[in-house]
Amino acid sequence: MPMMDSQRVGAVLLVLDSFLGADMRLLILGGTSEARKLAERLSDDTRFELTMSLAGRTVLPAALPVHTRVGGFGGVRGLIEWLIEQRIEAVIDATHPFADQISAHVVAATKACNIPLGSLVRAPWVQRVGDEWVCVPSTQDAARALPITPCRVFLSVGRLGLSAFCERAEHSYVARTIDPPGDIPLPPDLTFLFERGPFDLANELALLKRYEINVLVSKNSGGAATYPKIEAARDLKIPVLMIARPLKPSGTILDNLEAALNWLEKKVS
Ligand code: NAP
Repeated sequence: MPMMDSQRVGAVLLVLDSFLGADMRLLILGGTSEARKLAERLSDDTRFELTMSLAGRTVLPAALPVHTRVGGFGGVRGLIEWLIEQRIEAVIDATHPFADQISAHVVAATKACNIPLGSLVRAPWVQRVGDEWVCVPSTQDAARALPITPCRVFLSVGRLGLSAFCERAEHSYVARTIDPPGDIPLPPDLTFLFERGPFDLANELALLKRYEINVLVSKNSGGAATYPKIEAARDLKIPVLMIARPLKPSGTILDNLEAALNWLEKKVS
Protein backbone atom coordinates (compact mmCIF):
# COMPACT_ATOMS: atom_id res chain seq x y z
CA MET A 1 0.00 0.00 0.00
CA PRO A 2 1.49 3.41 -0.92
CA MET A 3 2.35 5.49 2.13
CA MET A 4 -0.21 8.26 1.73
CA ASP A 5 -3.01 5.70 1.40
CA SER A 6 -2.01 3.81 4.53
CA GLN A 7 -1.58 7.15 6.33
CA ARG A 8 -5.17 8.12 5.47
CA VAL A 9 -6.50 4.70 6.48
CA GLY A 10 -4.60 4.99 9.79
CA ALA A 11 -6.03 8.45 10.49
CA VAL A 12 -9.61 7.32 9.78
CA LEU A 13 -9.25 4.24 12.02
CA LEU A 14 -7.76 6.36 14.80
CA VAL A 15 -10.80 8.66 14.74
CA LEU A 16 -13.09 5.58 14.83
CA ASP A 17 -11.14 4.21 17.79
CA SER A 18 -11.62 7.41 19.76
CA PHE A 19 -15.40 7.25 19.17
CA LEU A 20 -15.54 3.63 20.21
CA GLY A 21 -13.41 4.21 23.32
CA ALA A 22 -10.84 1.63 22.18
CA ASP A 23 -7.61 0.86 24.11
CA MET A 24 -4.38 2.75 23.61
CA ARG A 25 -2.40 0.89 21.01
CA LEU A 26 1.12 0.70 22.35
CA LEU A 27 4.35 -0.58 20.81
CA ILE A 28 7.23 -1.66 23.05
CA LEU A 29 10.58 -2.12 21.34
CA GLY A 30 12.12 -4.90 23.38
CA GLY A 31 14.99 -7.35 23.67
CA THR A 32 15.73 -6.49 27.32
CA SER A 33 14.57 -7.60 30.76
CA GLU A 34 13.06 -4.11 31.31
CA ALA A 35 10.87 -4.52 28.23
CA ARG A 36 9.73 -7.92 29.47
CA LYS A 37 8.94 -6.57 32.96
CA LEU A 38 6.99 -3.64 31.45
CA ALA A 39 4.98 -6.05 29.29
CA GLU A 40 4.28 -8.22 32.36
CA ARG A 41 3.05 -5.20 34.31
CA LEU A 42 0.78 -4.05 31.45
CA SER A 43 -0.49 -7.42 30.25
CA ASP A 44 -3.59 -7.34 32.50
CA ASP A 45 -4.32 -3.64 31.97
CA THR A 46 -7.20 -3.59 29.52
CA ARG A 47 -6.61 0.09 28.68
CA PHE A 48 -3.60 -0.93 26.59
CA GLU A 49 -3.46 -3.01 23.46
CA LEU A 50 0.13 -4.02 23.44
CA THR A 51 2.58 -5.25 20.82
CA MET A 52 6.12 -6.21 21.76
CA SER A 53 8.68 -6.06 18.98
CA LEU A 54 11.85 -8.18 18.98
CA ALA A 55 14.65 -7.99 16.44
CA GLY A 56 14.88 -11.78 16.22
CA ARG A 57 18.53 -12.06 17.30
CA THR A 58 17.81 -14.70 19.98
CA VAL A 59 16.77 -18.14 18.75
CA LEU A 60 14.48 -18.87 21.71
CA PRO A 61 13.54 -15.57 23.38
CA ALA A 62 12.10 -15.68 26.91
CA ALA A 63 8.31 -16.18 26.82
CA LEU A 64 6.27 -12.96 26.84
CA PRO A 65 2.67 -12.54 28.04
CA VAL A 66 1.73 -10.17 25.19
CA HIS A 67 1.32 -10.16 21.42
CA THR A 68 4.83 -10.26 19.94
CA ARG A 69 6.14 -9.55 16.46
CA VAL A 70 9.66 -10.54 15.41
CA GLY A 71 12.07 -9.01 12.87
CA GLY A 72 13.15 -5.62 11.57
CA PHE A 73 10.67 -3.12 10.16
CA GLY A 74 12.78 -2.20 7.14
CA GLY A 75 14.37 1.04 8.28
CA VAL A 76 12.66 4.31 9.17
CA ARG A 77 10.27 4.13 6.22
CA GLY A 78 9.16 0.60 7.07
CA LEU A 79 8.66 1.56 10.70
CA ILE A 80 6.56 4.62 9.77
CA GLU A 81 4.35 2.43 7.58
CA TRP A 82 4.00 -0.18 10.32
CA LEU A 83 3.10 2.43 12.98
CA ILE A 84 0.40 3.86 10.71
CA GLU A 85 -1.00 0.50 9.65
CA GLN A 86 -1.16 -0.71 13.24
CA ARG A 87 -2.62 2.61 14.44
CA ILE A 88 -0.02 2.83 17.19
CA GLU A 89 -0.64 5.73 19.58
CA ALA A 90 2.45 5.60 21.80
CA VAL A 91 5.84 3.86 21.73
CA ILE A 92 8.20 2.82 24.48
CA ASP A 93 11.74 2.17 23.31
CA ALA A 94 13.06 -0.34 25.85
CA THR A 95 15.89 -1.64 23.70
CA HIS A 96 19.41 -2.30 24.98
CA PRO A 97 21.72 0.72 25.55
CA PHE A 98 23.95 -0.55 22.70
CA ALA A 99 21.07 -0.87 20.22
CA ASP A 100 21.49 2.64 18.79
CA GLN A 101 20.21 2.08 15.26
CA ILE A 102 16.66 1.05 16.12
CA SER A 103 16.49 3.98 18.57
CA ALA A 104 17.52 6.44 15.85
CA HIS A 105 14.85 4.93 13.61
CA VAL A 106 12.08 5.14 16.18
CA VAL A 107 12.92 8.75 17.07
CA ALA A 108 12.60 9.68 13.39
CA ALA A 109 9.49 7.56 12.78
CA THR A 110 7.52 8.72 15.84
CA LYS A 111 8.39 12.33 14.99
CA ALA A 112 7.11 11.83 11.44
CA CYS A 113 3.88 10.24 12.75
CA ASN A 114 3.51 12.69 15.67
CA ILE A 115 3.34 9.81 18.18
CA PRO A 116 4.71 10.17 21.74
CA LEU A 117 7.92 8.22 22.42
CA GLY A 118 9.21 7.26 25.86
CA SER A 119 12.73 5.83 26.09
CA LEU A 120 13.38 3.45 28.97
CA VAL A 121 17.09 3.94 29.55
CA ARG A 122 19.00 2.10 32.27
CA ALA A 123 21.67 4.05 34.09
CA PRO A 124 25.21 3.00 33.15
CA TRP A 125 27.43 1.31 35.73
CA VAL A 126 29.86 3.67 37.43
CA GLN A 127 33.32 2.84 38.67
CA ARG A 128 33.50 2.21 42.44
CA VAL A 129 36.35 1.98 44.91
CA GLY A 130 38.28 -1.21 44.15
CA ASP A 131 37.24 -1.36 40.47
CA GLU A 132 40.12 -1.46 38.01
CA TRP A 133 38.48 -0.24 34.81
CA VAL A 134 39.99 0.91 31.57
CA CYS A 135 37.20 2.58 29.58
CA VAL A 136 37.32 2.11 25.80
CA PRO A 137 35.03 3.51 23.10
CA SER A 138 34.33 0.28 21.17
CA THR A 139 34.77 -3.50 21.13
CA GLN A 140 37.61 -3.11 18.58
CA ASP A 141 39.37 -0.75 20.98
CA ALA A 142 38.90 -3.28 23.79
CA ALA A 143 40.68 -5.93 21.66
CA ARG A 144 43.53 -3.50 20.95
CA ALA A 145 43.83 -2.62 24.67
CA LEU A 146 44.42 -6.22 25.79
CA PRO A 147 47.85 -6.88 27.35
CA ILE A 148 50.80 -7.88 25.14
CA THR A 149 51.49 -10.99 27.25
CA PRO A 150 49.09 -13.85 26.46
CA CYS A 151 46.37 -14.12 29.11
CA ARG A 152 42.92 -15.53 29.83
CA VAL A 153 40.12 -13.16 28.86
CA PHE A 154 36.43 -13.35 29.72
CA LEU A 155 34.29 -11.78 26.97
CA SER A 156 30.86 -10.40 27.78
CA VAL A 157 30.36 -8.49 24.54
CA GLY A 158 27.53 -10.34 22.76
CA ARG A 159 28.18 -12.90 20.05
CA LEU A 160 28.48 -10.34 17.24
CA GLY A 161 31.31 -8.59 19.10
CA LEU A 162 33.52 -11.68 19.24
CA SER A 163 35.10 -11.27 15.78
CA ALA A 164 36.93 -8.16 16.99
CA PHE A 165 39.20 -10.47 19.02
CA CYS A 166 40.49 -12.40 15.98
CA GLU A 167 43.27 -9.82 15.70
CA ARG A 168 44.45 -10.80 19.22
CA ALA A 169 44.81 -14.55 18.63
CA GLU A 170 47.60 -14.85 21.23
CA HIS A 171 45.02 -14.81 24.06
CA SER A 172 42.79 -17.52 25.43
CA TYR A 173 39.10 -16.54 25.58
CA VAL A 174 35.94 -17.58 27.42
CA ALA A 175 32.81 -16.00 25.93
CA ARG A 176 29.32 -16.03 27.40
CA THR A 177 26.51 -15.65 24.87
CA ILE A 178 22.85 -16.66 24.70
CA ASP A 179 23.10 -18.43 21.33
CA PRO A 180 25.91 -20.13 19.37
CA PRO A 181 27.86 -17.60 17.28
CA GLY A 182 26.80 -18.83 13.85
CA ASP A 183 28.99 -18.25 10.86
CA ILE A 184 31.31 -15.47 12.04
CA PRO A 185 35.12 -15.36 12.36
CA LEU A 186 36.32 -16.26 15.86
CA PRO A 187 39.69 -16.23 17.65
CA PRO A 188 41.22 -19.75 17.70
CA ASP A 189 41.30 -20.41 21.46
CA LEU A 190 37.72 -19.68 22.52
CA THR A 191 35.48 -21.55 24.97
CA PHE A 192 31.74 -20.80 24.86
CA LEU A 193 29.31 -20.64 27.77
CA PHE A 194 25.72 -20.48 26.55
CA GLU A 195 23.79 -18.80 29.34
CA ARG A 196 21.14 -16.14 29.80
CA GLY A 197 21.12 -13.73 32.78
CA PRO A 198 20.39 -12.84 35.49
CA PHE A 199 23.62 -14.04 37.12
CA ASP A 200 24.58 -14.01 40.79
CA LEU A 201 27.78 -13.04 42.54
CA ALA A 202 28.64 -16.50 43.90
CA ASN A 203 28.44 -18.04 40.42
CA GLU A 204 30.38 -15.20 38.81
CA LEU A 205 33.16 -15.51 41.39
CA ALA A 206 33.30 -19.28 40.83
CA LEU A 207 33.36 -18.82 37.04
CA LEU A 208 36.18 -16.26 36.99
CA LYS A 209 38.22 -18.50 39.33
CA ARG A 210 37.47 -21.75 37.45
CA TYR A 211 38.70 -20.30 34.14
CA GLU A 212 41.58 -18.42 35.81
CA ILE A 213 40.49 -15.19 34.13
CA ASN A 214 43.04 -12.33 34.05
CA VAL A 215 40.97 -9.71 32.19
CA LEU A 216 37.22 -9.11 31.81
CA VAL A 217 35.85 -7.33 28.74
CA SER A 218 32.32 -5.99 29.16
CA LYS A 219 29.90 -3.57 27.58
CA ASN A 220 28.67 -0.93 30.01
CA SER A 221 25.16 -2.33 29.79
CA GLY A 222 23.97 -1.10 33.19
CA GLY A 223 21.19 -2.78 35.17
CA ALA A 224 21.28 -5.39 37.91
CA ALA A 225 20.99 -8.63 35.93
CA THR A 226 24.58 -8.77 34.67
CA TYR A 227 26.29 -6.54 37.26
CA PRO A 228 27.57 -9.41 39.49
CA LYS A 229 30.44 -10.10 37.05
CA ILE A 230 31.66 -6.54 37.67
CA GLU A 231 31.43 -7.09 41.43
CA ALA A 232 33.25 -10.42 41.08
CA ALA A 233 36.05 -8.77 39.08
CA ARG A 234 36.35 -6.12 41.81
CA ASP A 235 36.55 -8.78 44.55
CA LEU A 236 39.18 -10.76 42.64
CA LYS A 237 41.12 -7.63 41.55
CA ILE A 238 40.65 -8.50 37.89
CA PRO A 239 40.97 -5.51 35.52
CA VAL A 240 37.96 -4.69 33.34
CA LEU A 241 38.02 -3.29 29.82
CA MET A 242 34.72 -1.43 29.92
CA ILE A 243 33.19 -0.59 26.54
CA ALA A 244 31.40 2.78 26.63
CA ARG A 245 27.87 3.17 25.31
CA PRO A 246 27.16 4.59 21.88
CA LEU A 247 25.13 7.78 21.59
CA LYS A 248 21.55 6.54 21.55
CA PRO A 249 18.83 8.89 20.32
CA SER A 250 15.79 9.04 22.60
CA GLY A 251 12.35 10.46 23.23
CA THR A 252 11.27 11.37 26.76
CA ILE A 253 13.82 9.69 29.03
CA LEU A 254 12.23 7.26 31.50
CA ASP A 255 14.89 5.94 33.84
CA ASN A 256 13.00 3.03 35.39
CA LEU A 257 9.91 0.88 35.12
CA GLU A 258 7.81 3.07 37.43
CA ALA A 259 8.70 6.18 35.39
CA ALA A 260 7.56 4.35 32.24
CA LEU A 261 4.29 3.31 33.88
CA ASN A 262 3.65 6.88 35.11
CA TRP A 263 4.36 8.27 31.65
CA LEU A 264 1.88 5.83 30.11
CA GLU A 265 -0.69 6.60 32.79
CA LYS A 266 -0.60 10.26 31.78
CA LYS A 267 -0.87 9.39 28.09
CA VAL A 268 -3.85 7.07 28.52
CA SER A 269 -5.89 9.26 30.88
P1 NAP B 1 20.41 -2.08 16.40
O1 NAP B 1 21.80 -2.17 15.89
O2 NAP B 1 19.99 -0.85 17.08
O3 NAP B 1 19.36 -2.36 15.23
C1 NAP B 1 19.69 -3.00 14.02
C2 NAP B 1 18.41 -3.31 13.28
O4 NAP B 1 17.74 -4.39 13.94
C3 NAP B 1 17.40 -2.17 13.30
O5 NAP B 1 17.66 -1.23 12.28
C4 NAP B 1 16.09 -2.92 13.13
O6 NAP B 1 15.95 -3.36 11.78
C5 NAP B 1 16.32 -4.18 13.92
N1 NAP B 1 15.86 -4.09 15.31
C6 NAP B 1 16.60 -3.82 16.43
N2 NAP B 1 15.84 -3.91 17.52
C7 NAP B 1 14.59 -4.23 17.10
C8 NAP B 1 13.37 -4.49 17.76
N3 NAP B 1 13.24 -4.45 19.11
N4 NAP B 1 12.29 -4.82 16.99
C9 NAP B 1 12.38 -4.89 15.64
N5 NAP B 1 13.54 -4.68 14.96
C10 NAP B 1 14.61 -4.35 15.68
O7 NAP B 1 20.10 -3.32 17.39
P2 NAP B 1 21.09 -4.46 17.96
O8 NAP B 1 22.14 -3.82 18.76
O9 NAP B 1 21.43 -5.39 16.84
O10 NAP B 1 20.08 -5.19 18.96
C11 NAP B 1 19.03 -5.99 18.46
C12 NAP B 1 18.09 -6.34 19.60
O11 NAP B 1 18.80 -7.02 20.62
C13 NAP B 1 17.44 -5.13 20.26
O12 NAP B 1 16.07 -5.41 20.42
C14 NAP B 1 18.15 -4.99 21.59
O13 NAP B 1 17.28 -4.52 22.62
C15 NAP B 1 18.61 -6.41 21.86
N6 NAP B 1 19.88 -6.47 22.60
C16 NAP B 1 20.98 -5.85 22.09
C17 NAP B 1 22.18 -5.91 22.79
C18 NAP B 1 23.40 -5.21 22.28
O14 NAP B 1 24.44 -5.27 22.97
N7 NAP B 1 23.36 -4.54 21.14
C19 NAP B 1 22.24 -6.60 24.01
C20 NAP B 1 21.09 -7.22 24.51
C21 NAP B 1 19.91 -7.15 23.78
P3 NAP B 1 15.09 -2.52 10.71
O15 NAP B 1 15.95 -1.35 10.33
O16 NAP B 1 14.87 -3.50 9.60
O17 NAP B 1 13.83 -2.09 11.38
